[in-house]
Amino acid sequence: MSDNCLFCKIIKGDIPSDKVFEDAHCYAFRDISPQTPKHVLIVPKRHVEGLNDLQGLSDAELAACLRAAAVIAEQEGVGESGYRLLTNCGPHACQSVQHLHFHLMGGRQMSEKMG
Ligand code: AMP
Repeated sequence: MSDNCLFCKIIKGDIPSDKVFEDAHCYAFRDISPQTPKHVLIVPKRHVEGLNDLQGLSDAELAACLRAAAVIAEQEGVGESGYRLLTNCGPHACQSVQHLHFHLMGGRQMSEKMG
């Protein structure tokens, strides 16, 4: 946990969130400013800033976040129609919260193929 981290406070319950999934290693909640009809953030419970800091997570913790995606997609009704899972790392990618998170986005046809 990091004292000044927004997502750590959400995981702890100090700041409210619309939780959609939780297991031993990860926590998922709806993005406060959804960019798609379904927009969920999947975060590891252990605080690491982003993709450049994965040495701070165990393989099990990282895998839990990735495995949660398909479960949540199914739960949200977008497993078949499709969804994107993305993470922003650093200033050029416009990462605004310095706690690793994966955006699960779906519920409409994406207009552009990223990557
Ligand atoms: P990023 O820009 O990739 O770091 O993503 C951070 C995301 O966190 C943005 O999509 C925000 O809308 C979202 N966000 C910020 N504060 C909250 C909050 N209190 N609850 C849910 N999502 C949030």
